[in-house]
Amino acid sequence: MKIAVLSRNPRLYSTRRLVEAGQQRGHEVVVIDTLRAYMNIASHKPQIHYRGKPLEGFDAVIPRIGASVTFYGCAVLRQFEMQGVFPLNESVAIARSRDKLRALQLLSRRGVGLPVTGFAHSPDDIPDLIQMVNGAPLVIKVLEGTQGIGVVLCETEKAAESVIEAFMGLKQDIMVQEYIKEAGGADIRCFVVGDKVIASMKRQAKPGEFRSNLHRGGTASLIKITPEERMTAIRAAKVMGLNVAGVDILRSNHGPLVMEVNSSPGLAGIEETTGKDVAGLIIEYLEKNGGPHLTRTKGKG
Ligand code: ADP
Repeated sequence: MKIAVLSRNPRLYSTRRLVEAGQQRGHEVVVIDTLRAYMNIASHKPQIHYRGKPLEGFDAVIPRIGASVTFYGCAVLRQFEMQGVFPLNESVAIARSRDKLRALQLLSRRGVGLPVTGFAHSPDDIPDLIQMVNGAPLVIKVLEGTQGIGVVLCETEKAAESVIEAFMGLKQDIMVQEYIKEAGGADIRCFVVGDKVIASMKRQAKPGEFRSNLHRGGTASLIKITPEERMTAIRAAKVMGLNVAGVDILRSNHGPLVMEVNSSPGLAGIEETTGKDVAGLIIEYLEKNGGPHLTRTKGKG
């Protein structure tokens, strides 16, 4: 196969590993800087140009689209889909997962367990918004935050009111979520490929911190997940329409709760922790399921 990896930086661990795994399995792999691709959308034959030349002959495309380039990245991916190139994850599914409110609404509609979550643009009644998620302690999240930045734990309702007011004053969209105390500062990353969880790890926050992000000093370790957690992760990826996803789960005393479904999950932490060849399994998925004109939506919808 000839595989394109859409990535801004060929030196990133995940990008490097995907290139390496593809080449090891006998494929031609080309890294394309997402923001340097340009397109002709008026033509009957949708084209993508890169560094002065048309990009042609690809069988599959692996999108590694960062949160800050979602809009343009999805447009480039859509253009590949219109050409019939098989995407590891479809543009429509990536756009769905990047809109945190839409993602939670879709998951809740299909009965996937979630922390009780409220959101509002500018409520006249902040105390009522707080009561909707069962009062303090609660977690407030800036919608476009990543790596745990913009995630605040408020122990009291008074603190929550002030923080909500502050974010609203800054015109930041936020969501308000029940705090899952019994998770003990840990979450579980389930790496889904196709209809399987192929690797999972537990991330534990450093002492005195509730956010388990590795960027916030959290540590990762191996974990055996329960059949219910496995099923929840697979279901969450399926609801989003993602073939490959990193599903983050909190262990609550009423079962697994999905916090987020990530459409470009990083490979470094999960490969280092589990010792599994996750990149190889992703390429294997493309070998088994890819092919010309097999994309479900062709960028529609
Ligand atoms: P980001 O997308 O920025 O990583 P998350 O929503 O994943 O933000 O939150 C960061 C971390 O904070 C999570 O990995 C988890 O450890 C903790 N956390 C988030 N939401 C809750 C919650 N409702 N209850 C308990 N812990 C939470």
